[in-house]
Amino acid sequence: MRQMHLESVNDQQVLLVVDDREENLVAMEALLGDGDWDVRTVNSGEDALRCLMDEDVGLVLLDVQMPRMDGFEVARLMRGSPHTRYTPIIFLSAIAHTEESVLQGYAIGAVDFILKPFDPKVLKHKIGALLEQERHRHELQQLSQQLDSERAFNASVLDNASEGILVIDQDGVIRFANPAMAQMLRGEVADLQDSRLLSYLKRPEMPGDWRESEFYRSWRSGQTYRVHDAVLATLDGGYLPVALSCSPLPQYQNSMVLIALDMSVVSNLHAQLESQAITDALTGLYNRRGFHQSLETALSRIDRSGKRMAVLYLDLDGFKRVNDSLGHAAGDQVLRQIAEQLKTCLRPYDILARMGGDEFTALLDSLDHPEDAARVAEKLIELVSVRYELDGVEFTLGASIGIACYPECGQTVDGLLRSADMAMYEAKRAGRQQYRFFSPEMNGRARSRLMLEESLRTAIEQDDFVLVYQPQIDLASGRLRGFEALLRWEHRVAGTISPGVFIPLLEETRLINRVGAWIFNQGISQCRAWQTQFGENLLLSLNVSPVQFGMPKLVEDLRRLLDMHQLKPSQLEVEVTESALMQDLDTTREQLQQLRELGVRIAIDDFGTGYSSLAYLRHFELDTLKIDRLFISNMLESRKDAAIVSTIIDLGHHLGLEVIAEGVETLEQRDWLMAHRCTTMQGFLVAPGLPLEQASAFPAQLDWANWRPDKLF
Ligand code: C2E
Ligand code: CA
Ligand code: CA
Repeated sequence: MRQMHLESVNDQQVLLVVDDREENLVAMEALLGDGDWDVRTVNSGEDALRCLMDEDVGLVLLDVQMPRMDGFEVARLMRGSPHTRYTPIIFLSAIAHTEESVLQGYAIGAVDFILKPFDPKVLKHKIGALLEQERHRHELQQLSQQLDSERAFNASVLDNASEGILVIDQDGVIRFANPAMAQMLRGEVADLQDSRLLSYLKRPEMPGDWRESEFYRSWRSGQTYRVHDAVLATLDGGYLPVALSCSPLPQYQNSMVLIALDMSVVSNLHAQLESQAITDALTGLYNRRGFHQSLETALSRIDRSGKRMAVLYLDLDGFKRVNDSLGHAAGDQVLRQIAEQLKTCLRPYDILARMGGDEFTALLDSLDHPEDAARVAEKLIELVSVRYELDGVEFTLGASIGIACYPECGQTVDGLLRSADMAMYEAKRAGRQQYRFFSPEMNGRARSRLMLEESLRTAIEQDDFVLVYQPQIDLASGRLRGFEALLRWEHRVAGTISPGVFIPLLEETRLINRVGAWIFNQGISQCRAWQTQFGENLLLSLNVSPVQFGMPKLVEDLRRLLDMHQLKPSQLEVEVTESALMQDLDTTREQLQQLRELGVRIAIDDFGTGYSSLAYLRHFELDTLKIDRLFISNMLESRKDAAIVSTIIDLGHHLGLEVIAEGVETLEQRDWLMAHRCTTMQGFLVAPGLPLEQASAFPAQLDWANWRPDKLF
């Protein structure tokens, strides 16, 4: 608060003596000069007025008879000016006046009328008393002026404060409101006056009875009551978030002061940050955290409603290729587009989220039957699986969806998400573009898969993988053509595990790329090491899984390894399956083209079991067809299989391709194949996959005519 400043009262007061006669002035000065005041003397009315203007005069001794302007005239003029209106005047007169003129003097403000000659002692007393009185009057006047300005100051503080301020009496009635408060409540100050505070309070909820409210209670106990997240109900029907504090005023005032701080900016900012944290920036959908939260809320509600709900886990098929071949910006654009499409399939209260990458989840709330979720899944798959065009490039995407229903497939957020994820995985295994409901068996399988996956990771770390080499023999001559490298897992407890069991898992978990890099390095360096012994035409066949084939870096990796180990590319044969080729024709063509430029050979593995589209034999440049061993093992009994095998051999001849028969176990099979002019064989008749030592000891040329199945083992 401002300090009040009173003019120093210790200053000497000024006594003004007005007389036209010089000798009177000298006498007065001598008479009064030793008093508790300063004496000023002037010899005319005009000079008196001038002095009064310049100085604060406490008392005027005024001669009545003066030429030009007499004392009465001076007094009248003094009374006309606000500055001198209340300055006391004592008239001095040498002649006796009529009662009338004396009264006239009093009427214009004289406080005394003294006749000359007078008793100086009495005059000095009078002067002292009058000056004292005048000093008090002056102080009072100053005080009241300062009070006025003080009041105006306080009012302007309240008027201009941006916080809302209310004074509330002990009955909860508003006694004072500042303009900011009125503005916050969207009304006028007058609207608030005498209304009840509780009628504006939306939150915290208060009892209807004021005396039960926290405001009253705190006031009674002399405490300040604070609420950081209160909400006011405004006069226009809206709501305003505020922070409140309500403090008691001094006891005798029986009231409290409430200050309200507008929090709408802060809480908007808060809401904005909150929403950023749960939103996926790319698509504007919920992100993982947002989905978790929504699912949690839904779970807490559904217990009461008894309705069902389902969590859908959707993974795009083929998105990675889009990303790899068209770039991330294009990938982002596709994801945004897909998000928009997915939205159109759902009801407004269903929740859609992007969990990251090309994975989306949906929460279908209040379903009548689980089948409703299946219908949505079908719709989603259908919607995603269309041809897209971006920058002139056409491509197709697909979607695999897993569904987990509450409560059968999980009662918690994590449980439901895990189940839906597993079911999605099943859908992918089943050949993509499908949906699967989660089932308990899936759970069991998933668990053992999880264990297997875990031990695979350790196997990679501990180098528990080895390669074995299966010889490939030229049928006509019995000469060693090369080896196919086959992967073995030497499990420390379970013994050797066949790749049929773990390769698919390595594929799914993408661990294949790590193991694959190791296989390539191992195989290529081995083939090079064998050169002195088997010559520069020995071939090494490497299996390349569909995932590996889809890797954009495949060719680059092979080139680097061939360079590093100084192996001719033509000594390397890459075995790919038909399904790897059929993934995406454009990418396949590109990949094959690059392999070809690198100079490695390309073989189709398990030929005849897959799509066996003759078209790709025409489209792609290949070197070798490997007839699947199922046909070989049946061909001597089944005429159909025999027909297929001989047809493939013929096809090979016509297209100039080498044909390898896999899984040859008997001499009869060998002889049949030789009779049908098959070029190469591979199988237990000669050898299974051999550990390095045995493979190194393998003869480059077999005694083929006298060959017996147990020849080597
Ligand atoms: P695949 O490429 O068709 O390999 C031939 C499979 O047939 C091998 O099984 C081999 O041991 C087996 N086999 C060879 N001769 C005979 C025979 O006369 N009779 C019978 N019954 N079987 C014979 P394996 O080693 O268990 O490999 C299974 C599959 O695992 C392979 O099929 C291949 O697709 C995959 N694989 C093996 N090694 C690798 C690898 O290093 N990388 C990748 N990506 N896949 C591999
Ligand atoms: Ca193979
Ligand atoms: Ca094969």
